[in-house]
Amino acid sequence: MRRVLTAATTALTLTTAGTMLAGTPAQAVPTGWGRPVVSAAPQPGAPGLGDSYFPDYGNGGYDVEHYDVRLRYEPATDLLTGTTTILATATEDLSTFNLDFLLDVESVRVNGWAASSSTAGAHELVVTPARTVTRGQQLTIVVRYSGVPSEALVNGYTGWTRTDDGALAVNEPESAWWWFPSNDHPLDKATYDISVSVPTGVEVISNGVQPRPPLAEAGNRTRWIWRTTSPTATYLAFMAIGQYDIVTDTSPGGQPVINAYSTSLGALGPAARASIERTAEIVDWESGIFGPYPFEAQGGVAGPVDGISFALETQTRPVYGPGFWRRGANTYVVTHELAHQWFGDSVSVADWRNIWLNEGFASYAEWLWSEEQGEGTAQEVFDFTYASYPADDGFWQVPPGDPGAGRVFDNAVYDRGAMALHQLRLAVGDDAFFEILPTWTTERRYGNGTIEQFQALAERISGLDLDDLFTTWLFTPGRPELANAARKAAPPTEPKSWAKIRESHELMSH
Ligand SMILES: [Zn+2]
Repeated sequence: MRRVLTAATTALTLTTAGTMLAGTPAQAVPTGWGRPVVSAAPQPGAPGLGDSYFPDYGNGGYDVEHYDVRLRYEPATDLLTGTTTILATATEDLSTFNLDFLLDVESVRVNGWAASSSTAGAHELVVTPARTVTRGQQLTIVVRYSGVPSEALVNGYTGWTRTDDGALAVNEPESAWWWFPSNDHPLDKATYDISVSVPTGVEVISNGVQPRPPLAEAGNRTRWIWRTTSPTATYLAFMAIGQYDIVTDTSPGGQPVINAYSTSLGALGPAARASIERTAEIVDWESGIFGPYPFEAQGGVAGPVDGISFALETQTRPVYGPGFWRRGANTYVVTHELAHQWFGDSVSVADWRNIWLNEGFASYAEWLWSEEQGEGTAQEVFDFTYASYPADDGFWQVPPGDPGAGRVFDNAVYDRGAMALHQLRLAVGDDAFFEILPTWTTERRYGNGTIEQFQALAERISGLDLDDLFTTWLFTPGRPELANAARKAAPPTEPKSWAKIRESHELMSH
């Protein structure tokens, strides 16, 4: 969606030319009017968006507005067939363009014309349209495909999780490749219609709202229909297919709340419910700190016992692995994933190097929740976290502001990331700190951001030069010294929230 700017500029130029033509034709038509414009020949669209960690993720030359993902899934065989219709705008003259995708493509059409396609690289689908695409052109790309996602491997890996009773399309940063062709980078957000036909009796949960109840189809099948109307990054679209109990309600603010619990959870079920059923309460509390909740629906999905081991902030409806409920209810993981709705989902990384903007903030939300619950102040959690990693621990060698492509989910991004935010809060004071957070989410809502832009905002609001603080806490390996030496004199006591926060981060990071 960010690249809409480029398209808007093109549209403006055309409109201006058209107005000139209509208004004063004699003067407005230049001498050369009607002559073909001399320009460079259309080029292939770039196979990546230039991400510093994942250069071939996403593609150049177009911007997607909407994905219509229409699927049919067989839990017994993991066979996925479907048609995805992509509405996009070309941002360059294109001879070919790429999509990121792994399943077998049966056909591609661009604006109704059959196109040819071939595979390239690890996950590229190269589309050659029958007619050259021109900059500013509206594109309707229809891809028909099928495959067994659990067997579509990249370096021996699949981001698709097949389970006993269905599947989970839940992963970060790679998830879409296994179920819909896309421009797979958070820089290109879009809205979604996702519908899936499954054998009757199987549930399908996805993002947003259900614009209509599940539809009966021939052959004892049911089609589940979901709609997301807010801009969504590709990795935040998801599906959970299997045996679920679905609980629907309305939030105090009037939003639909749709939660789902895998029936496989057994004795873990009540702890999952005691956590996820607090979603509307936690969203309300976070709205008071981070600014208005950015999306159209709320909820959570408690995944099956043989599904994912982590949790993911899938937009409007995070998905939680079963491990979070092993020792009873855990509202810290719910607080974390819901905080991502502001930090990560609404304001997304412009480049995966900025992962601290997601994980540092969602982790710090847990510290604020600890204080709210009377289970230890943010300062107490800081002190204990800092003391729990000795100075020579490898933990301190990973700078959360640039952890490296292989360490995007390193524990340092979470724990040291939250510590960095707490240091910022101490440096600028509570008034400025709690103005910086909602200003960030408001100014960049539905867009993207970088750490440098966040630092600039913090400096603007606080009036302080924060270069030393950001450099020390985010970009410099080694344990930062604390200004207050007295704090190190006695070992801090363990906050009541510590065990749950610790356990949650062990499951989230890897
Ligand atoms: Zn997270």
